[in-house]
Amino acid sequence: MIAQKTDEAFLAETSFDLLALAGRINGGGDITRAEAEECFRLRGQVIYDLLYAANKVRRHFHGNKVTFCSILPSKFGRCSEDCKFCAQSSFNATGIEPYPMMGPEQVEQATTFARDNGASAFGIVNSGRGPTAREWPAIMDAVKAMKKVDGICHCATLGTLNEEQARDLKEAGIRRINHNLETSERHYPNIVTTHKWSDRVRTLQIARAAGLETCSGGIFGMGETVEDRVDLGFSLKDLNPHVVPLNFLHPIPGTPLEHMKPLRPLEILGIVATMRLILPKQDLKVAGGREKNLRDLQSWIFYAGGTSGLIGNYLSTYGRANAEDLRMIEDLELTWDDDRVGGTDPAAPEAPAAPARPGLSLPVLA
Ligand code: SF4
Repeated sequence: MIAQKTDEAFLAETSFDLLALAGRINGGGDITRAEAEECFRLRGQVIYDLLYAANKVRRHFHGNKVTFCSILPSKFGRCSEDCKFCAQSSFNATGIEPYPMMGPEQVEQATTFARDNGASAFGIVNSGRGPTAREWPAIMDAVKAMKKVDGICHCATLGTLNEEQARDLKEAGIRRINHNLETSERHYPNIVTTHKWSDRVRTLQIARAAGLETCSGGIFGMGETVEDRVDLGFSLKDLNPHVVPLNFLHPIPGTPLEHMKPLRPLEILGIVATMRLILPKQDLKVAGGREKNLRDLQSWIFYAGGTSGLIGNYLSTYGRANAEDLRMIEDLELTWDDDRVGGTDPAAPEAPAAPARPGLSLPVLA
C-alpha cells in the first residue's frame, strides 16, 4: 500500500526572493533544483506569493492567451497494465464497462464537436500498453476520420509506440502524441510494475524523432515525495515537450490508490506554480482533477501559471459544462489562442453523453 506522505518538512517562506526568481526566469535564467524544492515545500498563505511569481512568468512567456483541448476515450478498459491510479487496468476492480475501438464515424463526430465547442486540440485516447498489429488499421481509420475535420490540432494517446507506428502517425497527419511520465523514475515502480518509466521516455524520444510534437506530464497526489516532484519537473524540462498536462489524483474506488487523500486546492495551485517556474515556456495544461480537487479555486489555475485545460469530459469522469469554462475565460479577461479555429459560443450545447461508466471518478490521461 502506498503511504500518504505526512513527514515532509514544509516551509512558511522561501530562503530567496520569489519575485527576483521570476525576474531571473523572465530574463532567460533557470530555477535551480534547490529553489524548486523549496517552492514545492511551501504551505499556507505564502503560496499566494508563489502564484504571483508564477503569474509574472506566465504573462511574460505566454501573454494572456489560453487554450483548451478535448479528448475521446476511443478504446476503453481491459488494459494489460497495472497502473495503480487507473480505472481501466484489468488489475483493478473498478466496475467500468469496457468497449473496443470506436468506429470512424464516432471519431469524426467527436472531433467536429470538440472543434465547434472551443477546443484547440483533440485527441483519441486508447487504453492498453500500446497498439497491436491487429488494432493498427482501426487506429489509422480513426486518424483519417479526425483529419476530415480541419481547424484543430490532431493528437493521439496510444501508449507505447515503435518507430514505424510513429512514422505512420506523422504521415497520416497526427501532430502531437500524449504520453505522460506520470511521476518520477524513483516512484514509478510503486505505481506501475508491468512496464518501466524508461519505456515511456523511449516512446517520447521515438515520437520526437518521427517529427511528432510531444505532450507529457504527470499525476500528483500518488504518495510521491517533494523530491519526486522535483525530479518529475526536471525530467520534463530535459525532455522539453510542447505541452505538459498536470493531473491531480481523484482516487477511484477499486484501485490500490482508492484511500489516498486528495491534495488540497492551495497545494495543487502551488504545484502548478512551481511547474511554471521550472517550465516557463511550455503549455502547462491543468487536466485531470481540476473540477473535483480544486472546486471553487479552479479559475486560479491561470494565475498559478497554467495556460490550458481540458474541456468536456475526461476519460472516466464527466467534466463540467463547456459554457462554464468559456465564461470563466471571459470573466478572467483572458483570450483564446488566435491560432485556434472553432466556435466559442458560451451558449453552445453540451457534449453528447459519454458511454456509461458506473462508479468511476478518476480523470487521467493514459
Ligand atoms: S494508465 Fe493507460 S496503460 Fe495504465 S492501466 Fe490505464 S489505460 Fe492502461
